[in-house]
Amino acid sequence: MTDALRVVLLGTAAGPYPAPGRQGCANAVVVGGRVYLVDAGYGTLGKYVSAELSLRDLGGVFVTHLHSDHVAELFTLFLLGWGPANQGVVDPVRVYGPGPDPTDPGPPAAGTEGLVAGNLAAFGQDVAVRQRTSDRPRLAGLIHATDLSAAAGAEIVVHEDDRVRVTARAVPHPPLHLALGYRFETEHGVVAFSGDTARSDAVGELAAGADLLVHEAMEPDFYRSIGYSPKLLDFLAASHTSPADVGRVAAAAGARRVALSHLGPCDPARLDDEGWLGRVRPHYSGPVVVGHDLLDLTV
Ligand SMILES: [Zn+2]
Repeated sequence: MTDALRVVLLGTAAGPYPAPGRQGCANAVVVGGRVYLVDAGYGTLGKYVSAELSLRDLGGVFVTHLHSDHVAELFTLFLLGWGPANQGVVDPVRVYGPGPDPTDPGPPAAGTEGLVAGNLAAFGQDVAVRQRTSDRPRLAGLIHATDLSAAAGAEIVVHEDDRVRVTARAVPHPPLHLALGYRFETEHGVVAFSGDTARSDAVGELAAGADLLVHEAMEPDFYRSIGYSPKLLDFLAASHTSPADVGRVAAAAGARRVALSHLGPCDPARLDDEGWLGRVRPHYSGPVVVGHDLLDLTV
């Protein structure tokens, strides 16, 4: 089967502000027809439907971190896509992501479980009315959120079923206390996701021998050209990865193919595909693709 394992880059933009041409981060790993989402930034549900994926087939959601450009439509997926109509979600779905920050000096801000619970409360009127007036299952019973924690350097096993084994590692994306990269192992191949991260050996571990590495990329030359201060450029380097370093990480990991996503700048008029590729190729000899929304990759 040539399409037993596919990755659809649903949204490929960096940052929370909507930009022309690219939308917020989301990726679909499709294994034998079941869909596993990695992140759910703005625009995810529309892209999911445009990719002709069915919410009925949603097998799990894996959140890399709680920045809004990665989770703005996490709850929307369920709120708008719930129930028997339109092939919506009718069976419980596991949602995994970082928990609250244990070092937070104030009342701890919500982790993934709190994000779901807070949204359920915020949309309580709509949810209650729809449950009373239709044959939809209880929405709260369909979203099984789990807060994750991961010590630096440790691999955690997040999820296992008959199609995938998913592991994760903490990656450096300060000042967030926890950001995760994921590795999906299937009988048809291995796919790794860096999430948002500075150049990291943890990504190398996740991507070791992978058939496809989906890696974030932010080009410091662009941010220098628009007047970022040295301090801001240092911050960028501490929390994101240049395309040259993506090449170095992929080469060291022995990844067989690389897809660039979470692109900053995300406007092709600022940096086009050849510009991105030209920065990666000196450091990595394998095939590289520049992510665009709805790019469908057979693994
Ligand atoms: Zn981020």
